[in-house]
Amino acid sequence: MAVLVLLVGLALGSFLNVVITRLPLGERVWAGRSRCPHCRDPIPWWDNLPLISFLLLQGRCRFCRHPISWRYPGVELAGGLLALALWARFPGSSLLLVYAPFTAALVILTGLDLEHRWLPDVITLPGLALGLV
Ligand SMILES: [Zn+2]
Repeated sequence: MAVLVLLVGLALGSFLNVVITRLPLGERVWAGRSRCPHCRDPIPWWDNLPLISFLLLQGRCRFCRHPISWRYPGVELAGGLLALALWARFPGSSLLLVYAPFTAALVILTGLDLEHRWLPDVITLPGLALGLV
């Protein structure tokens, strides 16, 4: 079960990277495939596997060889480890429905704050409500 939770967490971490990347650009989070931030080439799914693709590509875009930010594997790893920690602390609990989105919001806010010094209301205000719950 721990391996499944880790894999789901890694995948969620990959999605959190999409949010951290697209939100400051004013792009919709659900809009199409990921693109290299430098050359804008679409990233094929096999180059988008959490942690594995970063390692296989040696931290560089397949097309333009521009370095990929360490934020991507860092957020993916954080997603995986935080999912494991939440599952270990609250296995199968309905509290995960509150703690998991709250934790995801904190990861997104950390990434946005570190890169852009920006904490958008679209995340902080729902996070405030979840925090109170
Ligand atoms: Zn590129």
